[in-house]
Amino acid sequence: MLRRGLLSFIAAAAALLAQGNPDWHRPFPGFKIAGNLYYVGTADLAVYLIRTPQGNILINSNFEQDVPLMRASIEKLGFNYKDTKIILISHAHGDHDAAVGLIQRETGAKVMVMDADVPDVQSTRPGRPGANVDRVLHDGDTVELGGSKLVAHLTPGHTKGCTTWTMQVQEGGKTLNAVIVGSPNVNPGYILVGNTKYPEIAEDYVKTFKVLNNLKCDLFLGAHGAYFGLKDKYEKSKNGGANPFIDPQGYKAYITEREAAFRKEWERQKQNPPASARN
Ligand SMILES: [Zn+2]
Repeated sequence: MLRRGLLSFIAAAAALLAQGNPDWHRPFPGFKIAGNLYYVGTADLAVYLIRTPQGNILINSNFEQDVPLMRASIEKLGFNYKDTKIILISHAHGDHDAAVGLIQRETGAKVMVMDADVPDVQSTRPGRPGANVDRVLHDGDTVELGGSKLVAHLTPGHTKGCTTWTMQVQEGGKTLNAVIVGSPNVNPGYILVGNTKYPEIAEDYVKTFKVLNNLKCDLFLGAHGAYFGLKDKYEKSKNGGANPFIDPQGYKAYITEREAAFRKEWERQKQNPPASARN
């Protein structure tokens, strides 16, 4: 009984937290990050558009209610929403993928998803995309369109198929390595010790930090604007000068801080295993 009470308390707290971030659904101007890579998300839920001569790639869909904002950003940039050819995701949580099925129906785009996140993206339970996954991706696979190439790096833990995308863009005669972090975060209520549904979760996070630490990063980006300081960097970019999204130090510092947070939580759970891990 106590445990059930605690679980419903956690669920209620999580729901409150979810509603509590006004930036999730707040409009944000679409803008060019560098080269053919554009931002078309909200003030926190990041959506990236890669423009190519053969149509566009989108990374993330956000919630269905956010699609009109994304569409407006795409059209204000002078592009056509219907030119969306491929949809990719950071990971299979509603704030990044709930509208994938809707965008697929509206544009005919092909949906490509990391193997372990496919069941969740195809799921039609409430709040899930119910999308048809056209191509199942595996760690290291590439997605190519119109001369642009993205690499899918499996960075599991946050979800089993959590994906960090990398690509190179050309800007001012330079090649820049873009890293779009899938998520390094251990959410409240995540069980790292004795997790019966996901026994290898902690080892997966360890792997993820190894991958993230080894990626070459010039353009530091991620699934949420908060990961990389979207709002501050966007404001800075208006002043001209160096592109603030080129931030290799910020990337290193972020990964280091997130890894420390994961290890601290893992240690805490080893000392005091979560109730659900003891049965
Ligand atoms: Zn998530």
